[in-house]
Amino acid sequence: MKLIGAALSGIGAIWALAVGYFVVALMGRATFTWGIFAGWLALLVAGNLVLLWALARSWARLTLRLQVLGMLWLSISLWYWVVAPIFFFLVMNVDRRQSLWAAFAFIWEVPVIGGGLFLTTSLALLAPIATFMAGKQQVARPERLYRSTLRYPVVISVLVLVLSTFGYVVGTAQLRIFAGLPGVEQGKNLATGLAIAVFLAVLIFLVLDTYLNKVRERLKHDYTIARTFWRSLQRRVVAVTAAGLLGSVGLFGLLLFDTLQALLGEEANRFFMGLIVNKELWGPFLGGIGLVLGLATGVMVFVGRLLTRALRALAASTRQAEREEMVVPALYTGDEIEVLSWALKEKISALALQRNRFREAQVETDAIFEGMGEGLVVTDRQGQVARVNRQAAALIGWEVAELTGKSWGEVVHMANDKGERVPSEARPIQRVLHTRQPAYKDIYTYKRRDGTVFPVSMKVSALIHEDEVVGAILLFRDITREKAIDQAKTEFVSLASHQLRTPLTAISWYIELLLRGDPLTDSQRSDLTKIRLRSQRLIRLVNDLLNVSRLDTGRLKIDPTPTDLVGLLTSVVDELLPFAEQRACHVIFHKTDDQFDTVPVDRSLLRQVVHNLLANAIKYSPPGVGSRVWVQLERSPQGAYLMSVQDSGIGIPREIHGRIFEKFFRAPNAVSKETDGSGLGLYVAKKIFQAAGGKIWFESVEGQNTTFFVEIPADGMREKAGLDLVL
Ligand code: ADP
Repeated sequence: MKLIGAALSGIGAIWALAVGYFVVALMGRATFTWGIFAGWLALLVAGNLVLLWALARSWARLTLRLQVLGMLWLSISLWYWVVAPIFFFLVMNVDRRQSLWAAFAFIWEVPVIGGGLFLTTSLALLAPIATFMAGKQQVARPERLYRSTLRYPVVISVLVLVLSTFGYVVGTAQLRIFAGLPGVEQGKNLATGLAIAVFLAVLIFLVLDTYLNKVRERLKHDYTIARTFWRSLQRRVVAVTAAGLLGSVGLFGLLLFDTLQALLGEEANRFFMGLIVNKELWGPFLGGIGLVLGLATGVMVFVGRLLTRALRALAASTRQAEREEMVVPALYTGDEIEVLSWALKEKISALALQRNRFREAQVETDAIFEGMGEGLVVTDRQGQVARVNRQAAALIGWEVAELTGKSWGEVVHMANDKGERVPSEARPIQRVLHTRQPAYKDIYTYKRRDGTVFPVSMKVSALIHEDEVVGAILLFRDITREKAIDQAKTEFVSLASHQLRTPLTAISWYIELLLRGDPLTDSQRSDLTKIRLRSQRLIRLVNDLLNVSRLDTGRLKIDPTPTDLVGLLTSVVDELLPFAEQRACHVIFHKTDDQFDTVPVDRSLLRQVVHNLLANAIKYSPPGVGSRVWVQLERSPQGAYLMSVQDSGIGIPREIHGRIFEKFFRAPNAVSKETDGSGLGLYVAKKIFQAAGGKIWFESVEGQNTTFFVEIPADGMREKAGLDLVL
């Protein structure tokens, strides 16, 4: 910045000195030669070059105003202090006094007319653009500003033309009044000025127009410019070439005229003056000029059209391709435009192909989306409905359009099996959005818009993009029918088991009577014992089925009473000791030293569970000396009661760990070793703890050991009204 200031003051000082010198010279007190004039110009140009260098150094830090100002000043001053004087020197025939006046005019006019008038007007016109680029205020009408960036270079170059012509008129008047410049030379001087001004105007237009691209870019980036303003490239090409041509013809004509003057001397002057004075020649002369200009314009329009034809074709077809999704035709111009057209053609064809594929995929997805029987809901990361299919909307009694954008959790009320409303943060969608783990649930109900409720089975999974959860997909269906069938099935099993129990108990009882009655032969006794065993197994199975149906329908009673857990476990162990002995299995009951208070538990339910676990542990250990089962009771740090039954038996294969608590499930390794079993014991145990509070789980290594754990909360089991367990 300092350097720019220094350069400017330097130029100012040189200029003031030069003006001073010329004033003195005009008063006749100093000598003047072309050499001295060239010296002054050289000094001024040197000052300008320093300014150019200083500007270039801090260009990026300058405001738009300063940049434009710098460009305009440099182009005007260098043009008029270098090109114009040289041309003046080449074409004008002047004496010393006239040349002194001309030199004086070149020196003083540039900063005054060029700098003062032209630069101030340019700056004033630039104001809105500069304010926008300085980022000081919001633009109320960005489109207008955009348009002014297109107009500004045109206005400024017209201004150059006008002011420069004005400068030459003033300069010529000076020469005529103070130095008696002859008429022909005056004409030449004016023509030179006009031709020079045309060139300068074109130069300034091109520089500013290119430079303002950055303003246009910013505007288009910051605002949506609703209308794009198309300027005709063709018109610009024509205007620029026409101006260039006109300027060149003018300058060339002047040089030619100067040569004629040199060759013919006064003859030439007289001849040309004669031409001008003779009014009869004006008609044909002006007509001739009009013809030439018309011809030239025609040629230029033709050339302009020719030059821009390929580009215009490209622009038109690209725009059409945008609108009508067509493929751009390739152009065969054999130059850069051909390269460009091919590149565009390929890009647009590739895009069209992709778009078609995308549309096909979209059609497929839509078909799947709408064609499926289930309700499908896609939500964003907040759980708001992004897309929903008709089925989903119909299931809950809403319209698709009404649901989009709403929070699914708020629109559809969800309740658990007890009819309590599930708070939205506990709902599967929110959980999945939070944990990313998919969820499958069939224990909830949805409420329709009309207030009716239906049981629902749902699957929710997270939508993950680049390792970020962007939403969730919910798939759900109404399972009223399944539930009803399930219910009917359970009721049937319950009824059938009930009906079977009475005759079975009678059979059992009669077998007992037979075994106790008249002496029997050994083979009769053995057969009867087998029958007793089988019927007992059958009774157990029927009981299990009855219990399962009671558990499934939620009708099982839980009746906690204060119980001594150690006593309960001891009695189960005692009861199973004969079975263990029969299989040469050693049962070890290990209690911790804690004194256990009594805990409210449903004795018969807990007994049933522990009995089953211990029986399994013995059953699934290979019979023989060395097989051991450990039963343990302890308290967790939180006060819960933890029972475990560990064996060193066949274990449970890893791949079926997830299925062990399923209804009727038996592991293949268990089925092959032990035919006696229903696959219901663990299912019953799990259901009991689900209803009463508490937990059951296991750890196992196939072929080595299995440990089942049961945890009862510190405050015991939850009470529930219902029917007793059948034993
Ligand atoms: P059941 O014993 O009548 O088959 P359960 O529901 O009690 O039915 O057990 C389900 C299955 O779990 C068994 O069939 C067996 O495959 C497996 N299982 C249970 N306890 C053990 C154990 N201690 N060791 C190995 N497998 C076991």
